[in-house]
Amino acid sequence: MMQNKPYIVGITGGIASGKSTVTKHLKGLGYEVIDFDKISKEVLENRFVIREVSMTFGDYILDGDKVNRSRLAKVIFNDRYARQKLNEIMHPRIYMKATREIKKLHNEKIIFLDIPLLFESKNSYPKFYSQINEIWVVSSNKNIQISRLMLRDQINLDEAEGKIDSQLKLQLKEKLADTIIYNNGDLENLYSQVDDQLKNLLEGFK
Ligand code: ADP
Repeated sequence: MMQNKPYIVGITGGIASGKSTVTKHLKGLGYEVIDFDKISKEVLENRFVIREVSMTFGDYILDGDKVNRSRLAKVIFNDRYARQKLNEIMHPRIYMKATREIKKLHNEKIIFLDIPLLFESKNSYPKFYSQINEIWVVSSNKNIQISRLMLRDQINLDEAEGKIDSQLKLQLKEKLADTIIYNNGDLENLYSQVDDQLKNLLEGFK
């Protein structure tokens, strides 16, 4: 496989399915990972964005001069229209920032993008997503996902199920994946699957 541009792998999955655990491992191996959650947090700290968001949703979502993320999350959780409004403010800036970060990493052989809502957003930004060469889905059984989510975020069963049910089903994401990483075992098992996938990728570059 001849290439002069970095090969771009999009990593996605469900909430608490293990994406960050996978990307932490990749970073530990020296790979570059662009984290869309981090980018979206940074965008929400931009003062123009804060102004637009507060004009749209009211000062209620502010804490002083910052956006209170959990209040904002509650406002958009069950409201499609509000979610769309927020996306219209945030998405163009998120994709612009991600595009700049990809450009900065032009000397890398592989770049990983950690995009929790990859499949949910793909159709809105075809140009950005066309750069992604392959997609890995980190998946886990629903009961394992629920218990890891409850433990990590200190939330109850109802809240955990609500969050999981608000996303596209993991089985559907698995169908759309180029590679599925099954995170139902221990960390050692997860890391060895990632290492195998990496090996496959690097073999392809020879
Ligand atoms: P995501 O980034 O997909 O939301 P995380 O990587 O944060 O998910 O994983 C969710 C939680 O489950 C975290 O607390 C993480 O430490 C834990 N976790 C993930 N994979 C495993 C595993 N194989 N064994 C034990 N704990 C795990």
